[in-house]
Amino acid sequence: MKLVRFGASGAEKPGLVDADGRIRDISSVVADLAGDGLSDDSISTLRALDPASLPLVPEGVRLGACVGRVGNFIAVGLNYADHAAESGMAVPSEPVLFNKAPSCVVGPDDTVLIPRGSEKTDWEVELAVVIGKRASYVSEAEALDYVAGFCVCNDVSERAYQIERGGQWMKGKGCPTFGPLGPWLVTRDEVDTSDLAMTLSVNGERVQNGSTSTMVFKVPFLIHYISQFLILEPGDVITTGTPPGVGMGMKPPRYLKPGDRMEVSIAGLGTQRQTVAAA
Ligand code: ZN
Repeated sequence: MKLVRFGASGAEKPGLVDADGRIRDISSVVADLAGDGLSDDSISTLRALDPASLPLVPEGVRLGACVGRVGNFIAVGLNYADHAAESGMAVPSEPVLFNKAPSCVVGPDDTVLIPRGSEKTDWEVELAVVIGKRASYVSEAEALDYVAGFCVCNDVSERAYQIERGGQWMKGKGCPTFGPLGPWLVTRDEVDTSDLAMTLSVNGERVQNGSTSTMVFKVPFLIHYISQFLILEPGDVITTGTPPGVGMGMKPPRYLKPGDRMEVSIAGLGTQRQTVAAA
């Protein structure tokens, strides 16, 4: 099942995508795709609906992030060996974790803003995990039971803020609009994360071309691992790292400028399309 949130920013309603690709309004059934709305019970209720009985949403409606009220927005760094190499960093022996500010979450096709003073705003296509159930000290074997679904994330990054300004990476990871999520939250029963093609294009030129098959630490291990350090709550998002092809790794490096257009895709999870503008 493909779930969406549609409507004006801050006032999104939940919807599902029917067999013909049209959005159906499910706001009479679930308040939001957030918190308890992401539970197994909630998703079972939605799955039992007859889409044809639900109101059609007009085409062309804005899509919001496919999950609401994101609490923790946790990212995994250097989780693809080739990307670590292009970044000039070693593959870590344990996952590198950092925070993206939840306030950076935006819709999949919303404008991405280059922060004031930025010269090194960069792109990263990533597979994101949306937590559906409170997770603390979970085993790797049971980890996927805690997942509501998966979506595309563009882990937009300001490299100077991330690397050259001291301290942790979060300065360069949580700037406004740096977290497009969606278009769809695809429920976990429909996603096998072992080998999903992932691509990112800038102005029509393919720059990232990878697969989740080359992830160093896989999704079940990441959930298990993170849950040893903190409690994951429904609506928390884990974005799991990017394959090679980011601007920082190009020779010479290449960064985003106003007017650029990004297209960000993962097989089965849909495509994001963002235009870049100055903040
Ligand atoms: Zn990343």
